[in-house]
Amino acid sequence: MRRKFAAGNWKMNGTGEALSELNELTNTYQSADIDIAICPPATLVDRASEAASGSAVAIGGQDCHANTSGAHTGDISADMLRDAGATYVIVGHSERREDHGESSDNVADKATAAYDAGLIAIVCIGESLDTRNAGDTLALIGEQLAESLPDSATGTNTVIAYEPIWAIGTGLTPTLDQIAEVHDFMRDTLAKRFGTEAADAFRLLYGGSVKPGNAAEIFATSNVDGALVGGASLKASDFSDIIDALA
Ligand code: PGA
Repeated sequence: MRRKFAAGNWKMNGTGEALSELNELTNTYQSADIDIAICPPATLVDRASEAASGSAVAIGGQDCHANTSGAHTGDISADMLRDAGATYVIVGHSERREDHGESSDNVADKATAAYDAGLIAIVCIGESLDTRNAGDTLALIGEQLAESLPDSATGTNTVIAYEPIWAIGTGLTPTLDQIAEVHDFMRDTLAKRFGTEAADAFRLLYGGSVKPGNAAEIFATSNVDGALVGGASLKASDFSDIIDALA
């Protein structure tokens, strides 16, 4: 069976003081029956990894470059994240796709770089409100899945996060039927490409305005194996409530 997974994405939030929230989490989750991760800003990955060492909380990066090293001012490689103690790296978040013009092909290259470094890639996909209103959500999701996942993706090296752009940071969420429709579609699409058994191994996370108040019903939805949580992962008490709803 797939191991459930609660991942927190701190985005561009947090200086050293924020480690007190992480410490609260690591104290609460010395061990856990689900996977837990916090993806802090790159500046905190090293300190966060040290702080979380020995607990059930793993640390991840929020992006990596597709290359291992070289003339790429301001970028960070998957090897560097691994060296700083990361286990995971988010790739293809919609904010990266939008702010940095990342294409699905770029995202697949980043996922491959993550695998090469021994990191687990959390690959994000999701539709805009215009795409949903046009009735094109599943077509877009199918295309993003096809292009953002390398052929070498497996349920061991990759977690997929479905994050409707219009639900991120807005307090809006799709209906449970809409979430189930996309997650079932992702599972079927993966099965067509990788075979049923391999497809069943991928964890499919939902992301976008997950809060303590809606986590349980989202987690009870078909093919939802956990969540990628932004705003509500910044406070240990809120994220703990979400973890407990999943565990
Ligand atoms: P949110 O962000 O939980 O603040 O909506 C989710 C995400 O972007 O990963």
